[in-house]
Amino acid sequence: MSRIAYVNGSYLPHRQAAVHIEDRGYQLSDGVYEVCEISDGYILDMTGHLDRLGRSLSELRIAWPVHRSALVTIMKEVVRRNRIRDGIVYIQVTRGVAPRDHAFPTHPVAPALVVTTKRLDRSKLDARRRDGISVITLPENRWERVDIKTVSLIGNVLARQAAVEAGAGEAWYVAPDGTVTEGSASNAWIVTMDGEIITRPANDHSILRGITRATTMRVAERLGLRIVERPFTVAEALAAREAFITSATSRVTPVIMIDGQPIANGRPGSVSQSLGEAFFDIAEKTPA
Ligand code: PMP
Repeated sequence: MSRIAYVNGSYLPHRQAAVHIEDRGYQLSDGVYEVCEISDGYILDMTGHLDRLGRSLSELRIAWPVHRSALVTIMKEVVRRNRIRDGIVYIQVTRGVAPRDHAFPTHPVAPALVVTTKRLDRSKLDARRRDGISVITLPENRWERVDIKTVSLIGNVLARQAAVEAGAGEAWYVAPDGTVTEGSASNAWIVTMDGEIITRPANDHSILRGITRATTMRVAERLGLRIVERPFTVAEALAAREAFITSATSRVTPVIMIDGQPIANGRPGSVSQSLGEAFFDIAEKTPA
C-alpha cells in the first residue's frame, strides 16, 4: 500500500507529495511541527499537542494554516487513509512560500501545511521501554528558545547522531551550570534514592514543554508518587536510583547508563516501569 500525505489541500502518494523550493521551512527553517503518538487506533494527548502547536505558531507570528478543527479532520484522514493503528502523526506548518529573504514576506502569504503519518513497530518500542537505553551527555549548544517546537533542529540532529555513533539511544544536553536541560528529542528525569521524581521546570525557555512530560506528571500523581520540579546535575543522575526520558514516541523509557556508567544496578527501575504501564490509561485518547 502506498503511503498518503496531506500537502496544502491535497492527499497525495508520498512520491508526489512535495513542497515548493521557496517554502520558507525548506530554506530558512521558518516553521514549527508537532508529533502525536498513535496507539491502538487512538491519537494520544491530541489536545495538548494542538495547544502547543498554537503556542509555537503564535511565538513565530505564523497564522493557523487551517482552522484547528479542520486540522483534526486532516490528521484523522491521513491516519485512516494509511491504516495506521500504532505509529505517529506528524504536522508541519511553515510561514509559506515567498522569494527568499530573511525578513517576513511583506505581502500576505498562506502558511504551508503538511501532515504525514508513519507506522511504528509496537514490539520494538515495547522492547526499548522494557530494556531501557543508554544516554550520552553533550554541552547545551542550541538557541535560547527551545520551548518553541521549530523545525530548526540542527543542534538536535547533531546530538542524536553523536548518540547513535556512541551506540546510545539519546543525548542529554548539559547547561554551563552542570544541570541537564533535556534530551535531543525527549525530556529528562531522575528518581532519587528517596523516591522523589525530579525533572527540570518547564516554565522558562530552556526546554520543550513536553506533552508526554505533562501526562507523566498526571500518571505520577495518580500513583501517589512525589514529583519535584527542579534542575538536576549529571552527578545527581549518576547517583540516582533511576532515570528515564519521556517523549511522544518513547513515552516513558528507562535510562540505564549515562556516558558508559550504569545507574544503580544498570537495569530499568520500578518507578519508570509503573509510570510506563499506567501511561496509556491516563493519556487522552482520541479515536483516529
Ligand atoms: N524535548 C525535545 C527537544 C523534543 O524534541 C521532544 C519531542 N518532541 C520532547 C522534549 C518531548 O516532547 P513530547 O513529550 O511533547 O513529545
